[in-house]
Amino acid sequence: MSGLSSTSMLRTWEAISGRGMVEQALILLAAGYPELDRERLATLSIGQRDALLLSLHERTFGARLEAYTECPCCRERLEFGIDTADIRVTGVPIESDAEYRLVYGDLDLTYRLPTSADLLTLVDCRDTDHVQDRLLECCVLQATWAGNPVKPVDLPGSVIAELAKAIVERDPQAEVLLDLHCPSCDHRWQTLLEIAEFVSRKVTIEAKRLLCEVDALARAYGWREADILALSPTRRQAYLELVEI
Ligand SMILES: [Zn+2]
Repeated sequence: MSGLSSTSMLRTWEAISGRGMVEQALILLAAGYPELDRERLATLSIGQRDALLLSLHERTFGARLEAYTECPCCRERLEFGIDTADIRVTGVPIESDAEYRLVYGDLDLTYRLPTSADLLTLVDCRDTDHVQDRLLECCVLQATWAGNPVKPVDLPGSVIAELAKAIVERDPQAEVLLDLHCPSCDHRWQTLLEIAEFVSRKVTIEAKRLLCEVDALARAYGWREADILALSPTRRQAYLELVEI
């Protein structure tokens, strides 16, 4: 399976521009997996979604993720690279539309994993309590306390914390934590790698690089954008070198 072509890269970049991150992730998936049903893509768990985005990165940009961050202690800029194999979670199969059970004291609940479709419904939520209530309504399918039905939003905080823990255990690809070390001040910390955000940023960088190439070749030869993008990267690079001579 091939990665995004130059034409598809620019089209995808245009489509994600100005969109929220959940929408961007779905646009990237639709571009990378045109054979998959869009509705189905929206109902994948976040970990399943991120696993597909990692594969899309591998096919399009390779298996190495180059990133940078800032040390929270001394503000030193830190560049680092990770192989997708090091952050890919294996051995935790997730069935489509799987339902799980959590028993906690007298509480018995059935839940499913959050999906992009769920997160899309949170876009207009302003406060975190509202976000939590809406997610609970989406993901808690049934809850009883000593045999009596309980509304998801009425669940106590301790149960919600337990449920959040269970969801991460069931869908570990959704939460990739990186151990970082600052060589300047020896500070060590963990940071969350947002895979969707990472791939989206990479598509934007690559699209802008392609635009520069199109600009240079269009100016030099008067070629159309579509024709320049249809050239193989090797041939395009060769013409760029001729232009720069
Ligand atoms: Zn530092």
